[in-house]
Amino acid sequence: MFRIILVLLCSLQLATAQNKKVLFIIADGIPASELEKANKPAFDDIINKGAYLPCYVGGEKGGFTQSPTISAVGYNSLLTGTWTNKHGVVDNAIKNPNYNYPTIFKVFKEAYPNKKIGVFSTWLDNRTKLVGDGLAQTNYLHVDYHRDGYELDTLQFPHDKKAYYIHLIDEKVVAEASQVIKDSAPDMSWVYLEYTDDMGHRYGRSPQLDTAISMLDKQMQKIMQAVSYRENNFNEEWLVIITTDHGRDAQTGKNHGGQSDSERNTWLIMNKKPAQEVAKTAIVDIFPTIATYLNIKLPIPVAQALEGVSLLRK
Ligand SMILES: [Zn+2]
Repeated sequence: MFRIILVLLCSLQLATAQNKKVLFIIADGIPASELEKANKPAFDDIINKGAYLPCYVGGEKGGFTQSPTISAVGYNSLLTGTWTNKHGVVDNAIKNPNYNYPTIFKVFKEAYPNKKIGVFSTWLDNRTKLVGDGLAQTNYLHVDYHRDGYELDTLQFPHDKKAYYIHLIDEKVVAEASQVIKDSAPDMSWVYLEYTDDMGHRYGRSPQLDTAISMLDKQMQKIMQAVSYRENNFNEEWLVIITTDHGRDAQTGKNHGGQSDSERNTWLIMNKKPAQEVAKTAIVDIFPTIATYLNIKLPIPVAQALEGVSLLRK
């Protein structure tokens, strides 16, 4: 009898335990100074519930881990929790990622093979090269849900000189990601959006970049509505982290790649409060933060290689 009650109690606990999900978003190339001054009601909603943290990319300036403030380098620092000296991505060509430093998707799938992952991206390489969907080097990691590659579809998205098509692709990616979240709620998702980077490169700190940030804010609202829908109608709790991959040079606000403070300084927004007070975080802290939240037991070599610390570890 006691055993039966115990089994009942255990299954009751399983039934009430909230199903935890993670969504991380990279909005490309938005300097902290520009985000902070923007009118951004959807971002502010998230910040009010959680936190806005100054963040950095680029590793240790002048040190062994120093990493170019270049897009794919930053994405892979988020994905692997390491800097260039380990993950091996030095530029946007993504020639030789060192897959021995696994992505957060890979360790998640290895810990929980039945859980689902999703990539929604305005840049195809993010899934095919960085996450390594279906590659032998990732032991054929399978991305369960993906919506990407639209930049190659010039019929649906003809390339215009002002790169407005990139905004249209971002819109498509956001619509698709929101729908998949509502319908299927992948356990871990990455949304990548690019238009802000294009406006930064073309116009620097400018009304055009401000407009792009406003558009991004509306996109965040749409995605958060999908997350709220899940939390309100299903037994789920979501961690949402939004960040960028680099700042821009102080002179023109257009370029990046170097080690100036304005190129290295970024930001991180999440819908949970950090477990401890944090003065400044780094892009490599996102991997261990997600691992804490989803209770991923990391293999010892992976844990030892991590360069960051969990924002949620008490
Ligand atoms: Zn970038």
